[in-house]
Amino acid sequence: MKGIVMSLSTLLERNKAFAATGTRTKAPAIPFIPNQLAYVITCIDPRTEPGEILGVELGDAIVQRVVGGRATPAVLRDVAYISYLLETKAPEGPWFELALIHHTDCGSAFLADAQLRADFAARGYDEAELAAIPVVDPAATVRADVEKIVSAPQVSSKIRVSGHVYDVKTGLLETVVPAAS
Ligand SMILES: [Zn+2]
Repeated sequence: MKGIVMSLSTLLERNKAFAATGTRTKAPAIPFIPNQLAYVITCIDPRTEPGEILGVELGDAIVQRVVGGRATPAVLRDVAYISYLLETKAPEGPWFELALIHHTDCGSAFLADAQLRADFAARGYDEAELAAIPVVDPAATVRADVEKIVSAPQVSSKIRVSGHVYDVKTGLLETVVPAAS
């Protein structure tokens, strides 16, 4: 516990240093139109930090992180919401590209283990929903999730969607599904 407190205090010190710079003024004028016109969805795994692996700087991208980088109903709702804001508040655009990233060696894969999944579900979660999460073959799951986003009627067809696999060993991103609406 002590270690956790110590780590957070380090981050709070970094926040003071950040606030002392002018970096925050790089934020886009319209918050849902990021500077690099990118919406990045990736795993919560600390190895997949977009600020490092993609060089995303403040205001560059909308970043959404969820276990496995999966297009869950909650993620689809958020994409639909931003899509709706663009349609109603800034219909002239510019529109962003959504890059969905799944990665190798993903911790979500533990949920493919029936026993582990059942034990965790016993804490009050739906086992069928948990069974849809594991990323065992990232190229396959990223394809399936890109299709899910593209085919969602609530998501504007003006949003281009691409799918990528990040290799935690090489640090390289491979595009599996090129951007399409
Ligand atoms: Zn992961």
